[in-house]
Amino acid sequence: MTQTAANPNHDLARQLRQSRLSGGLQHFIGGQWSDSHGGETFETHSPVDNAVLTTVASGDATDIDRAARAAHDAFQMWREVSGQERRKILHRVADLIEARAQEIAVLESIDTGQAIRFMKSAATRGAENFRFFADRAPSAADGQSLPAPGFLNYTLRQPIGPVGVITPWNTPFMLSTWKIAPALAAGCTVVHKPAEWSPVTATLLAEILDEAGLPKGVHNLVHGFGESAGKALTEHPLIKAVAFVGETTTGSHIMRQGADTLKRVHFELGGKNPVVVFDDADLERALDAVVFMIYSLNGERCTSSSRVLIQDGIYDEFTAYIAERAQNIRVGDPLDPEIEIGPLVHPRHFEKVMGYFDQATKEGATIAAGGERVGQEGNFVSPTLFTGARNDMRIAQEEIFGPVLTAIPFADEADALALANDVQYGLAGYLWTNDLTRAHRFAQALEAGMVWVNSENVRHLPTPFGGVKNSGIGRDGGDYSFDFYMETKNIAISLGTHKTAKLGVGQPQPHKDRADQRLAE
Ligand code: NAD
Repeated sequence: MTQTAANPNHDLARQLRQSRLSGGLQHFIGGQWSDSHGGETFETHSPVDNAVLTTVASGDATDIDRAARAAHDAFQMWREVSGQERRKILHRVADLIEARAQEIAVLESIDTGQAIRFMKSAATRGAENFRFFADRAPSAADGQSLPAPGFLNYTLRQPIGPVGVITPWNTPFMLSTWKIAPALAAGCTVVHKPAEWSPVTATLLAEILDEAGLPKGVHNLVHGFGESAGKALTEHPLIKAVAFVGETTTGSHIMRQGADTLKRVHFELGGKNPVVVFDDADLERALDAVVFMIYSLNGERCTSSSRVLIQDGIYDEFTAYIAERAQNIRVGDPLDPEIEIGPLVHPRHFEKVMGYFDQATKEGATIAAGGERVGQEGNFVSPTLFTGARNDMRIAQEEIFGPVLTAIPFADEADALALANDVQYGLAGYLWTNDLTRAHRFAQALEAGMVWVNSENVRHLPTPFGGVKNSGIGRDGGDYSFDFYMETKNIAISLGTHKTAKLGVGQPQPHKDRADQRLAE
């Protein structure tokens, strides 16, 4: 493990641990900080050494019920707040996030093990998300005019109501803003249940939203476990929709749990995203992108390119370059700006990722780089490359969610496409070729919600973000987000010229005649 020198992030981390974490984390419900009704708590740990970081209020169905009621009560007021006013408040949120970006980055790093070099930009992305949707708040309700003979039809959008937002532990701050910002811009109220392995920055976000002037009850935060707080949120009748980011199997549970109350759901789930490298590609740029997309953010990233498919003729050379880069990656203290990979979020996740090292050897693949734990404490693993893999191996089919890349050779375009699509997932795909027609052909045939050609994941906020197959349901981004958080209503106005069929003005009614006759008798 790379040793770290003294750095100012440690001083800030010490201060923040003292000022923000020593007292434990609470829920934020109806504008008030509170413990769980029964006083239950759980501990959250530092991935660096698995020592206790702080205690966290552990919510259950009663706490969720309080939060859902607060969100319900606030909804009638918040939906009437003008788009312009919502815009102002959400810009203030963005300002506060920017002002506290370093604090957010350090806390995120402490809590999740993500390298600080990526966390500052993740915090800034959170601010961008708020700005982006703030600017769209005034037009969120806009609809279409759809004239028909004798009628003017027009549509408008109205916020769906209180929504549940359930987020995972990877880059939790940024991902939460990605859901909460459009929900608030649309006029919805929110109950947020963050991941139990990374509760810290959700608390900070609640504080920032409050400080920015969001009225009480519009944003509520309930900490807790998926099986208790999360489940109760998805089952609550006052919650109209659930935006969920997490594992595919959890998505299935949520769909079942939400069935009785007919929840609208939006799922951003797992991936086993292919990056396909043809021999005509710009291999230097491709190498940078392949290495970045699997080893940045500890590989704990839904859009990571965790399967690299490489054309036969360049397979050996290209994998040798990846292995060399992987071996050079600096693993260590996540607060050190030089460090590229920090510890994995939790010992359970660490064990899962380590399990794939044995699995790879058992399946007959070669560990060309890494494949070991790093250091004696904490959840550090070395950046890993499996070569000589086949697509039917578990290391090629399952989402490992760590800095672990599986390299598979292919013969031609048809072979590459078959391999790329032969997984249960379909979130993102990356394609490297300089053949223009092949790029279009391949991109259109790839079973993925998002395809990048000759690029790593570069996000543009108005574009749709989401997956196909077992990677998700629905899209985020731009107007797509509003389609989820809002109901589209059609209003048909007659111009008074159409004919309405007249009923009840024809022949005398036989049953009436019979009744009259009976009366006469
Ligand atoms: P997870 O599914 O275990 O947990 C996610 C959240 O769901 C947590 O808050 C958890 O408490 C909650 N939860 C668990 N069980 C629940 C239940 N029965 N009812 C309601 N809520 C429940 O996921 P994770 O391990 O925290 O995150 C990693 C996963 O997230 C990976 O699969 C990754 O690919 C996925 N992810 C996807 C995207 C995307 O955009 N597609 C983005 C980030 C992460």
